[in-house]
Amino acid sequence: MTPTECEFEAQALAAATEGCAEPALREHVLRCPICSEVVALSNAFALTNQQSLTAAASLPDPSRVWWMAQVRARREATQDAVRPILATQIATFAWAIGLLIVCLGVAFAWFRSAFSLATAVLLSHGVLVAIAAAVVVLLPTAAYFALGKE
Ligand SMILES: [Zn+2]
Repeated sequence: MTPTECEFEAQALAAATEGCAEPALREHVLRCPICSEVVALSNAFALTNQQSLTAAASLPDPSRVWWMAQVRARREATQDAVRPILATQIATFAWAIGLLIVCLGVAFAWFRSAFSLATAVLLSHGVLVAIAAAVVVLLPTAAYFALGKE
């Protein structure tokens, strides 16, 4: 049966953590498997603690973190400001197209007849027009969200 304890185990651990040992204790640690394992584990824990302290000490520069937060806040504020402007531009464009159609309809008889013919065709093929409109609107929208917003 192999021994699981050694009478010099505590002294070997203390010497390993403090970094100094008597020559007789060093000789014992080299020969005793229990004490050599205790010293190896103590050195491993000390190395791990040192590495975790080093990792904690390498935080990013606070001025860089502050600058990046400022840039991000500015970008988000810009996006928030641009959104209603874009909605207003789209609504204005739609109103302009509608006004143009009304003006052309009032001014030209051929435009009225062409518009009424186009309206009749659209209404008679409603399902086909709805599918085409859905494809024209949904495919770019799906691509926009699938590929990212930029
Ligand atoms: Zn020992």
